[in-house]
Parts: sequence; structure tokens; C-alpha cells
Amino acid sequence: MRKKIQQLEQTAKQLELEPVKRKKWDDAVQGYAHDFLNNLPQLKGFVKPGKNPAAAILGCPIDGLPKPIEELLAVLKENLHTSGVNPASGGHLGYIPGGGIYPTALGDYLAAVTNEYAGIFFGGPAAVRIENMLLRWMCQLMGYPEGALGNLTSGGSIANLIAFVTARDAKNIRPEKIRKSVIYLTAQVHHCVHKAIRIGGMEAATVRNVPMDAHFRMDAKALAKLVAKDQADGLNPFLVVASAGTTDTGAMDPLNDIADICEAENLWLHVDAAYGGFFILADVDKPGGSTIKDSFKGIERSDSLAIDPHKGLFLSYGLGAVLIKDVQAQATTHRYQANYMQDAISLTEEYSPAELSPELTKHWRGLRMWLPLQLFGTAPFKAALEEKILLTRYFYGEIQKLGFEVGPFPDLSVCMYRYVPEEGDANKFNAQLLDHVQTDGRIFVSSTTIGGVFWMRVAILCFRTHLREIDLLLEMFREGVREIEVNVAAC
Ligand SMILES: *Cc1c(COP(=O)(O)O)cnc(C)c1O
Repeated sequence: MRKKIQQLEQTAKQLELEPVKRKKWDDAVQGYAHDFLNNLPQLKGFVKPGKNPAAAILGCPIDGLPKPIEELLAVLKENLHTSGVNPASGGHLGYIPGGGIYPTALGDYLAAVTNEYAGIFFGGPAAVRIENMLLRWMCQLMGYPEGALGNLTSGGSIANLIAFVTARDAKNIRPEKIRKSVIYLTAQVHHCVHKAIRIGGMEAATVRNVPMDAHFRMDAKALAKLVAKDQADGLNPFLVVASAGTTDTGAMDPLNDIADICEAENLWLHVDAAYGGFFILADVDKPGGSTIKDSFKGIERSDSLAIDPHKGLFLSYGLGAVLIKDVQAQATTHRYQANYMQDAISLTEEYSPAELSPELTKHWRGLRMWLPLQLFGTAPFKAALEEKILLTRYFYGEIQKLGFEVGPFPDLSVCMYRYVPEEGDANKFNAQLLDHVQTDGRIFVSSTTIGGVFWMRVAILCFRTHLREIDLLLEMFREGVREIEVNVAAC
């Protein structure tokens, strides 16, 4: 027996790297990372995927055999940057861009090497404290009272899900009550809210699309009317989902007016601030005398909110957050009991993530946010957010000078625009123009359809996006319009 164990140990021990080999692998990976970052300014924001993209990766099968690190990095290099969106690029202005500030990677690295247990306070007191401190920092930023908490999630979708099921239980929506229960949102709400409703077992509830104003913001008066009518009809309104920055158009719902209604009618107010939340840091005036901060007024009156550090704090993908005022309610929905956990629940100084989310063992994702925030302080984040707002307004002004039609003045850092040619179908023209820009790929933008009209968008949120990228995009549009018009004229 001992002999057999010792034999196995010899092979198993390969999993613990000798320092020399560890250094070699470190150097190889870091060489790759630094090459990538140094070459990034030359890389495109987008490479249109051809047929069967990244097929070469299939040539490196998971066959159970060890391979040299150089070979593996070469396979990655060949496949990773040769098709699709490049989210690290400052040229990514599509959808809602991500970030990838470098210390995120350092935080992840240390979290993985130390493998601290961040699920339960008893197991990893410092790791859990760091996560809760970050949550309390965000709660404070949003004007939530002491005692509010939440959870660091993998992203905004899970954050919205945790808030939704907490609201469902806090409002005591038992199965027999689902059919009569009503949820209010707008047609511009992120689709993950609809997912949350379904996953949360409430597909049979009534979901009302509250009308919007010309800026795609929820019409609070219309909301009040819908709630009153539903109550008069014997239904059970219980939840309003407002958006602080919609994905499509960047619109800020009138949070304070909505909070008035929720307070009066005792409805749970959830705000999806996954995209827009961190703009609360920005000191920027708005036309008409108010400020960006003013447009967040009322968010402190919500019961829960979702906010994505992997968007507005420029971290690499993999970090969202849900903030919940009534942490007891959050715990009621997510708490667990298991005999094998009996000695883990004896400490009460901090809530454990496992009590407040569906997860137990989890990535210690707090370190990837803590490290950059502590290294940089908040000033560069605030400046970057303010810069993105101003870049969007600059684009909004300049694209009109090129003869484009625009949507509403941007509330935050998303704006929509389209070119209306003198003749021919505008939707077709803009689809062609988008294809032109995407085929070029130096800058990547995406599109949306609202009320049957094809709009292109820019969403400016990558920390690497500066004036250079916006000027380049404007130039690409100038060329694109000319080229398509020449082609049309030639036909
Ligand atoms: C991105 C986004 C989400 C979803 O967040 P993920 O991090 O992608 O899961 C939800 N709501 C809004 C408004 C978003 O912009």
C-alpha cells in the first residue's frame, strides 16, 4: 500500500511546479500578455468572423497529453485575436464595451494563487471582508444606508437575478399569487430581467411595458396610472424595474419620480444600473442646468440595484454587483443549512457571500476590484468616466456635421444615429454603412432597431477610447457614406 502510494505521489507531484519551471511558465505567459498589450494600438477593434471562425483551435484537442507552454500560447495567439470583437481595444464601441485595466489581472492572479476561500467568512475572513467592504463602498456611493449589502456576482445578469428573487420573496409572492402579480418595466429594459423573471419562476405573472417618453425613459405618470388601474382590478403590483442607463440608448429613467410611486404604493423598486451606475462618480453638467449626478437622484430610495464594475469601472469581464438595502430579505431567499457546514456559520461579524447568493465555493472576485481601486484611487476612474461622457457628446455633435440624423441627446455615453440618404431605403443604406465600418474593423460599432428603424449606436465605455478613436470613426463614416453613394450612383 505505502509503495503504491509513493509511486502515485511521483506522478501526482508534477502538479506542484518546481520553482524553475514555475518561473519559466510565468515568463512565457507574461511575455504573451505584454506583447498583446504593446501591440494593442495596432490591433483592430473587430475582425469580421468568416465561416467557422477559430476552427484552428480544434486542432489542439483536449487529448489528455501534456504539451509545452510555447505551443499552447501559439495556438491562443493564432486564434484569439484573428476574429470577432476585441474587447480590450479602445476601438470597441459596440454593445456595452468592457475594459480590462491591468491590475484586474494581477488581482485575479493572486486570488488564484492563494486560492482563498471567499464563500464563507469563517473560511476566509479577510477575503470576505474585502468583498463586503467593496459592497459597502458601492452602497455608500449610491446613497444606501449603513447595513445595506448585496453580493459580488459574475456580472449584471446574475446581479439582476439575485435582486429579482429577493424582491419576489420579500413581497411574499407565493405560487398561488403569481398569476395576479404585476411587474412594471419598459421595452428598453435589459433582456436579462426577463430571463430573471422566468428563472425566478414567475413567467405566469403579468409584465407591463410602461410607455416611454421621446428619450426612451420610463414615463412615471403612465406608471402611476397603470399601477392604479391594476390595483382597482384586484391585481397585485409588487415590483418596478427601472434602468439607470439602458443598454440600447443609454437612457436614465426618472428614478426619483418612480421612487415616489413605489413608496406610495409599497412596491419594490429595483434599478438596473449595470451599465450606467458608476457614472454617479462623474461631475459633468447637463444642458439645461442640471448635472449627471442629478439624474441619479432617487437611486438611494430603491430597494435593490445592479451595477457592473466590469463595465463602468473598466475591470476585465467577470465582475458585477447587486446591492440590496434589506440584507435580511436577501438572506431569507439565499440562506442554506447543511450539517456539514455546522461549524462554519458561527461567526456573525460579517455576512458570508454564500448566505446571500446561489453560490457556495466561488472565485474570490473581490480582489480584482480591490487591487485597482487601492492602487489608483478613484480620481482616474472619475476622469475616465467624465471623458467618456464628453467624448459621446463630441461624437453626437460631429456626426451631425456629416449630415447624420441623431437620436436623443445622450444621457450618458451611448448615442444613436443614422444616415438618411436623399433617395432609397434608409434602413438598407445604414445596414450597408454598418457593414462597411465593420468590414474595416479599426473601430467597431453595433446597431439596433427601434420602432422598425435601423439605428447605429456608439457606446463609449472602454478606458482605452479617447479622441483618437472617435476622430477615426468619424473619418470612417465620412468615407463610408461617400463610397456607398458613389456605388449607388454608378448602378
Ligand atoms: C450589460 C447589462 C446587463 C447584463 O450584465 P452582464 O454583466 O452582461 O451579465 C444588464 N443590464 C444592463 C443595463 C446592461 O447594460
